[in-house]
Amino acid sequence: MDKIVCVGKNYLEHAKELGDAIPEKPVLFLKPPSILRQARQGESLNLFMPIDRGCVHHECEIVIQLQKGGFRMDHSEAERAIGAVSVGLDMTLRDKQAELKKSGGPWTVAKVFPDSAIIGPWVPIENFSNFLEAPFSLKINGVLRQEGRATQMRLSPAECIAYISENFPLCAGDLIFTGTPKGVNSVVPGDAGMLTFGSIEFSLLWHGLKP
Ligand code: MG
Repeated sequence: MDKIVCVGKNYLEHAKELGDAIPEKPVLFLKPPSILRQARQGESLNLFMPIDRGCVHHECEIVIQLQKGGFRMDHSEAERAIGAVSVGLDMTLRDKQAELKKSGGPWTVAKVFPDSAIIGPWVPIENFSNFLEAPFSLKINGVLRQEGRATQMRLSPAECIAYISENFPLCAGDLIFTGTPKGVNSVVPGDAGMLTFGSIEFSLLWHGLKP
C-alpha cells in the first residue's frame, strides 16, 4: 500500500451537520499506512486516543481496497480497480480540525494520529456485489450513532476513485475512505463500538493515551 486516501464531505447531511459550506467536489486528504488498525471478523480491537488534544470524533465510512492503480482513470477503469470492501472509522480531532478550518490550514494534524484509521476484514468485491445498497452502521455502547449506504454519497465509490486519480496517481493496495454520513460524535475512553456492513462485524474498545 502506498497511501490511505480519505474523501470528506461526500454526504450532504454530514456536511450540513458540521455547518460547513458544501464544496462543488468532496475534499481529499491522506493518512499514512502506519496509523492504520485492522480488526479481524468478530474481533474486539483495543484502541488508543489522544485525550489531551480535545474532542475525538468517529466517522463511520465504507472503505475500498484497490486491486489496480492508475492516473486519470475513467469510470469503467475506476469500477474495475475496486478489489475489496470493508467498513471503518476515520477518527478525527474535531476541535483541532475546527481551528484549522478557521485558519485555512491543512487538516493533517486533526486527521493523522495513532489508531486514527480503523478498518474491519476485507470482503472481495465478487462476494459483496450489492455493497452499494447494503447499510453500514456504527453503534457506541449499544446505541446506534451512524447508519448509511453508498447510494447516499455525492460521488459513488467508482466516481471517488476517478476523481482522486484525476488529481494524483493511485496504486494497487491503496485504501479509500469514502466519507461519512451524518451522526458523527465524540468517543471517550471506556466507550465500546460495534461496526457492521453486510457480513462484516467487529468491535472496538477505546483507551486513553498510549502509555
Ligand atoms: Mg471522514
